[in-house]
Amino acid sequence: MKIQSILSALTALALSMAVIATTGCNKPDHEHTHSDGHTHQYTCPMHPELVKDAAGECPKCGMKLVEKT
Ligand SMILES: [Zn+2]
Repeated sequence: MKIQSILSALTALALSMAVIATTGCNKPDHEHTHSDGHTHQYTCPMHPELVKDAAGECPKCGMKLVEKT
């Protein structure tokens, strides 16, 4: 039953491709638009050149990032 092992290998491959497709939008340097057409960007009040797409703290000064408008 070699065809079955090939099929299960293909299924595993397809599953891992699906996982990559759903988590693949986590790249650090991208312009990501959500389906609602709204992007959330966070920046440091002291370092406006620093822009992140998630809330957190500034790696340079440790200040809380504020959402860009
Ligand atoms: Zn800062």
